[in-house]
Amino acid sequence: MIEVVEPATEQVMAEVPRAGVEETDAAVAAAKAAFGEWRAVAPGDRATLLRRLADAIEARAEELTRLEARNAGKPISDSRAEIAMVIESFRYYAGAPERLTGKTIPVAGGVDMTFHEPLGVVGLITPWNFPLVIASWKVAPALAAGNTIVLKPAELTPLTALELERIAPQAGIPEGVVNVVAGPGSVCGQRLVEHPDVAKIAFTGSTEVGRGIAAGAAQTIKRVTLELGGKSANVIFADADLEAAAAAAPLAVFGNAGQDCCARSRILVERSGMDEFMAALERAVTEMRVGDPLSEETEMGPLISAGQRETVASYVPDEAPVAFRGSAPDGPGFWYPPTVLAPVSNSDRAAAEEIFGPVACVIPFEDEAEGVRLANDTIYGLSGSIWTRDGARALRVAREIETGVLSINSNSSVRVATPFGGFKQSGVGRELGPDALDHYTNVKNVFYATEES
Ligand code: NAD
Repeated sequence: MIEVVEPATEQVMAEVPRAGVEETDAAVAAAKAAFGEWRAVAPGDRATLLRRLADAIEARAEELTRLEARNAGKPISDSRAEIAMVIESFRYYAGAPERLTGKTIPVAGGVDMTFHEPLGVVGLITPWNFPLVIASWKVAPALAAGNTIVLKPAELTPLTALELERIAPQAGIPEGVVNVVAGPGSVCGQRLVEHPDVAKIAFTGSTEVGRGIAAGAAQTIKRVTLELGGKSANVIFADADLEAAAAAAPLAVFGNAGQDCCARSRILVERSGMDEFMAALERAVTEMRVGDPLSEETEMGPLISAGQRETVASYVPDEAPVAFRGSAPDGPGFWYPPTVLAPVSNSDRAAAEEIFGPVACVIPFEDEAEGVRLANDTIYGLSGSIWTRDGARALRVAREIETGVLSINSNSSVRVATPFGGFKQSGVGRELGPDALDHYTNVKNVFYATEES
């Protein structure tokens, strides 16, 4: 059995059967058996079923919100927004089956046309930080395109994925289309990667595990989408609205207790604006409400596990340049206070590695060229922000920063309707928006002769 722990209390909140290779093979077999029926469902009917699935999730939204908040230790208001995004993802991709149009291409001697065919069985492997919402970014486009799925959630947070597996047939999705295996990544995840009947792996998780998945998938030439780690820069120029940038910065790095691949954990500040920015940032950080995830007021909860807290703490040794910290409750729970290190050099360990916890590094820069150079001086390239009142500079810098998802005078860059994914070692492929569908289909080209050759 998997003992599922509530991070805010350290108590076991549920026990679920631990799947292994046998259960993974059975799930792949069920998905394979269901593929013919699912891909044959008329596009309009598949759209209706996806909308029904969205409705069925919506009917249980508050229950799922609470379950996710307890299991992942995330503030209930964040959890509510995530479940709303799950519903939105299914509604958005319900529009896809009838819009998966191909092309006709002018050629001699006949008609040439393309089709976007489903891949077959796709394996979806997800992390613990945004459990159901990241699953929905994969499940919704995969199903819309006519694939069947085996979803492997993280062992620490399998509960909402298991609920999705129950809800899908209740909404009318045929049996075998949606399968969930809750078990270790090194067993169930690896089996999906190796399985000859799995056509594609869509993975979200660490860059380290992603490297192994890419290598493993190569053996059967599986398609792979990788959404990996990040060390994103929040680049703040002295001419920006520094109060606004400082007020927004804490949630951009301490949201989800910093366990966010998009965390803007390197705060790059133009030196001439440093004093004003730091004063405003200190106020914002010390005012953050850290505590019980189930309280509507809470902005930051605990870390996911004792192990994660130990890893995070290793980035803040006694001699670390702690500028200021927020609060954290005493007692049970994997708590760690929001912590700002300043000034930090971009090559310091805390600035170079993904901490995946509530630790921000403030790094000064002298001018635009140095700001861009430091922002790009990382193996990662997932997200980031630019704060300035100079519109031309904002767009110039946006084009120069090597990341997949950027925001200007805002830290918000993830939306159902817009593409999401990384440059460099932050990943391969795109989720969300119209682009995701390309990663769940194969293009087929058909030539129909209209003249004798
Ligand atoms: P992880 O890489 O340890 O695990 C992710 C998933 O992979 C889990 O389901 C795990 O069981 C599975 N897994 C582990 N070993 C495996 C193997 N050998 N074969 C197949 N599957 C395996 O990541 P995590 O600790 O759950 O999540 C944190 C990481 O995820 C961070 O690096 C974070 O940046 C990243 N992340 C990325 C995004 C994104 O969209 N780019 C989003 C959220 C999290």
